[in-house]
Amino acid sequence: MPSIFVTHSRYDTAIPTFFDKAASMVETSLLYVEWEELITPPWKYIRDKLKDCEAIFIIKGPNITRNLYTSNWISYEIGLAAHSNKRTGSGEMDVWVFESSQNPVFFPVPFLTDYVVYDPDDPNHIQYLRYILEGYNERKYHHKLPEAISVTCGHNTCQVEYYLHTLLKSWNCPSCQRISQWTDDVSYPDQPLRISNEMYGFDYPGVV
Ligand SMILES: [Zn+2]
Repeated sequence: MPSIFVTHSRYDTAIPTFFDKAASMVETSLLYVEWEELITPPWKYIRDKLKDCEAIFIIKGPNITRNLYTSNWISYEIGLAAHSNKRTGSGEMDVWVFESSQNPVFFPVPFLTDYVVYDPDDPNHIQYLRYILEGYNERKYHHKLPEAISVTCGHNTCQVEYYLHTLLKSWNCPSCQRISQWTDDVSYPDQPLRISNEMYGFDYPGVV
């Protein structure tokens, strides 16, 4: 069974509920890795586990910056993914960043392929996650779904490219964390995720 490497803070106890609901409907398993429970040495354990996974899900929650261990280990995982040969024709592995619409968190991610702002109380969002997981079960890569919107960050010192899965008029770039918004008219796909406030971006203190 294909696995997804899931990284989050163990103190964000509500997060697995949403993800497990979707995973229970599919043949793709979620591998939760918490540094407190790793077999030593942790760097080796993480590297070896990651090799067997199809993608990484980084789930941002309020406690993701609670301590430096969590933050540093996540950075290490992202670096490994950026160097992986998992995806044919490219050096990178898929790195998904999930952020709850109810709890935006300042946490710059150096490399990612996909960004999802989700509402944990919306059943449609669980279905969408299920859809993503099913794709990995079939060994497809889901950022190529028609629902995804190709984005390049417009800030000169960032310019990270990724796929946005939620219909937003403004949001914070998951990498540089500065506000992103459309400069041209965009034809939205038919069925991406929607949240109650499409103006999701705001100024984080100290980010210019
Ligand atoms: Zn950016």
